[in-house]
Amino acid sequence: MLTLLWLVAVFIGAVALAYVNASAVVWTGAVAVALGVAWGASLLVPWLTLALTLAFVVLAIALNVPALRRKLISEGVLAGFRKVLPPMSQTEREAIEAGTVWWDGELFSGKPDWRKLLDVAQPALTAEEQSFLDNEVEELCGMTTEWETTQVYRDLPPRVWQFIKDKGFLGLGIPREYGGKGFSAYAHSRVMIKLSTHSTAVSVSVMVPNSLGPGELLAHYGTDEQKRHYLPRLARGLELPCFALTNPNAGSDAASIPDYGIVCWGEHGGKNVLGLRVTWDKRYITLGPIATLLGLAFRVYDPDHLVGAKEDIGITCALIPTSHPGVDVGRRHMPLAAVFQNGPTWGKDVFIPMDWVIGGQPMLGRGWRMLMECLAAGRGISLPSSSIGMAKLTARAVGGYARVRQQFKTPIGKFEGIEEPLTRIGGNLYMMEAAGALTAAAVDLGEKPAVLSGIAKLHLTERARQVVNDGMDIVGGKGICMGPSNFIGAAYMGAPVAITVEGANILTRSLIVYGQGAIRCHPYVLKEMSATREHDHGVALVKFDEALFGHLRFTLANLARTWVMGLTGSHFVGVPAGVAPETRRYYQQLTRFSAALAFLSDVSMGVLGGALKRKEKLSARLGDILSLMYLCSATLKRYEAEGRQQADAPLMHWAMWDAMFKAQTALEGVISNFPNRFIAFALRGLVFPLGRPYVEPADSLGHKVARLLLEPSATRDRLTAGMYMGSPNDERVGLIERALAATLLSEPVEAKIKAAAKAGRVDAKLPPGAGIEVLVTRAHAAGVITMAEGEAVLAARDLTARVIRVDDFAQDLGASEHKPVAGTTPPAATPSPYKHKAAA
Ligand SMILES: Cc1cc2nc3c(=O)[nH]c(=O)nc-3n(C[C@H](O)[C@H](O)[C@H](O)COP(=O)(O)OP(=O)(O)OC[C@H]3O[C@@H](n4cnc5c(N)ncnc54)[C@H](O)[C@@H]3O)c2cc1C
Repeated sequence: MLTLLWLVAVFIGAVALAYVNASAVVWTGAVAVALGVAWGASLLVPWLTLALTLAFVVLAIALNVPALRRKLISEGVLAGFRKVLPPMSQTEREAIEAGTVWWDGELFSGKPDWRKLLDVAQPALTAEEQSFLDNEVEELCGMTTEWETTQVYRDLPPRVWQFIKDKGFLGLGIPREYGGKGFSAYAHSRVMIKLSTHSTAVSVSVMVPNSLGPGELLAHYGTDEQKRHYLPRLARGLELPCFALTNPNAGSDAASIPDYGIVCWGEHGGKNVLGLRVTWDKRYITLGPIATLLGLAFRVYDPDHLVGAKEDIGITCALIPTSHPGVDVGRRHMPLAAVFQNGPTWGKDVFIPMDWVIGGQPMLGRGWRMLMECLAAGRGISLPSSSIGMAKLTARAVGGYARVRQQFKTPIGKFEGIEEPLTRIGGNLYMMEAAGALTAAAVDLGEKPAVLSGIAKLHLTERARQVVNDGMDIVGGKGICMGPSNFIGAAYMGAPVAITVEGANILTRSLIVYGQGAIRCHPYVLKEMSATREHDHGVALVKFDEALFGHLRFTLANLARTWVMGLTGSHFVGVPAGVAPETRRYYQQLTRFSAALAFLSDVSMGVLGGALKRKEKLSARLGDILSLMYLCSATLKRYEAEGRQQADAPLMHWAMWDAMFKAQTALEGVISNFPNRFIAFALRGLVFPLGRPYVEPADSLGHKVARLLLEPSATRDRLTAGMYMGSPNDERVGLIERALAATLLSEPVEAKIKAAAKAGRVDAKLPPGAGIEVLVTRAHAAGVITMAEGEAVLAARDLTARVIRVDDFAQDLGASEHKPVAGTTPPAATPSPYKHKAAA
């Protein structure tokens, strides 16, 4: 009996020590005490106690004497590690090492410090930024419509381009000392949100110069001379930039671009100067057809060793005026219905001087790192913000539409079937905006959150697509028939653009988020990997040993934490003081998920090694867990930062339940598909010892969320804050707003008429063809309603009729009224510089 008690105590003690990640010394002491008790109370047969003691002494010495431990254990593991580590090119390494780790590191720690998250200051706008949003951005939106840009000009009208340049829209992020606005990432994001609630073409045209491209690259890496020359010109719109990376043969795998530059001497400005002879063939380049300044990425070779010993110098970025002889830009691609300028560019053996390389000669071969570092921040702002904009437009307009549009004598938004997509629209938008604001806050704190910006881009663009698709289903034919009054069709067609650019989403989900996340956010993996690359064996061994044993204790801790939190439902997990009581359980469950993710990651990396890179479905699911935890963190933070608005609580709860359920499904997906069945069985027992706690959000909760979109309220205003509402006279959002307000006035009056008809005071039987006016007149005559009330009913009907009406066109769909469009004549084939080369 005593022996059994001793065994139980040893087990509980071991789990407890693992749970608190006890140090090697504490472990050694604890095992010594346990063995001492076994000896003292004769709990085991003597030979067994002796064997255990000997084993303990040997292990304790081996593990606690660093030099011995390195020799006996770490050296062999290091050699094995070097063999199994998948080969990594310099570009891969630069991609992985780019940027910084922020809250994502905490999410991967198994024990996030929630206080750190809650203490991050909520981003806010300066007076100047707010004024820009309220005036210039508002005015820009009012200057054109989606229909005018897509159908009449197939571009932004010239007056709009001029306004964009004159008012500094192209230099939002350029420092003030160079004439730019010097806005924060948060302000930049609010500008993008507002623009994209109105027009895709306007938002993309403004987004690109402010995103990854010449301005950003120059600000970070340009020489003083380059900055002094170009930044003021870019800020004032005297230069229109584009950035060309994508080659027909290198899209997602952009690091393998075949475009090249050869270091050589050549003529420039009447002098013989050192430079590059560059050949490129690029496509999909936004603003390419009208750009005056081409940012170009290509691989530099130095066969004659004019700048050093290396021949293959690597990817390099240069700035080339498009007026430079040999630069071809001009024809356009047509990216769905979004008519922003986009097209190819090519050049063959174009000589450029060395000082056109961004950062000059010292930055030869540093292009990939520059791009990855800028992407680490930029990707988290522009595309996520435009996605939030699309979702805001959908929530506001579709919510209103679903209230004024009646079928079966009921607003369609009140049918349970429509409630489902409406709920998703509201819940997703709440979470999207929370994640957008948190990512912007990180960038404004000086972080370059590579993993989090990838998560924000991937998940916000995906959720925007879901939101817009839901909106399309709710509005039915009204969304499908294009025309000036269609408020959602353009967003529907724009969604795949955001999905594809800056890292297409499937690639980002399958390879990047977790691939980069596991290495960057894990507290030990990158340290272990760097140790393997150390040339000095002694240094490598010391660093590797330290990381390896930290890693082992980390894994053990997460194993214990995952299991204990699973057994106890994580009820005993600490929660930061003072958080809203209704959110306490979310913090506890997220802590549990964090430990489970860290543990599953270690098991996956340990068992699959380099093969995990090819197991994209597993890697994508592990990335989903990390991503969903980020979205949940942002949502909890938003709820606190906005003062725990009780009226908004259904949005927060729905978003959390939905995401937690999805995270749980992803965890289960990893376990069910784990290649080793025995390990899968053990993992399920550890991660879900009592089954899976989360279910899909309740229908009753969804009902509350859907109702929030159907009528005006402070919650609806908060959810759609910062969007362009249009003038009340426009045929899109402004009209829906008026119809909604009128409908809410009319509904009680109609109820009065209905009741009076039921009581026999009003004859509700109308002659064929008679409209509501007849009923209203009868009700007024019977003294049931006032004249004003009757007018309110008629106004609501009139406005609703305008809302549900769709545009129609002449037989040729108006083609004869429009200018001929570039591309209607058969295009000349784009000459490929490489073909020329082959022919030569
Ligand atoms: C409208 C528009 C604007 C653009 N603007 C610019 C610009 O200004 N400058 C610029 O340089 N480029 C620009 N691009 C290019 C854009 O970045 C690329 O389209 C993008 O990188 C994807 O390349 P791709 O279209 O060739 O698709 P592919 O690389 O052929 O990919 C096709 C599909 O395969 C998936 N995939 C690829 N590899 C993997 C993998 N290992 N695992 C899983 N899935 C994978 C991708 O996710 C994608 O779904 C633009 C593109 C568009 C459409």
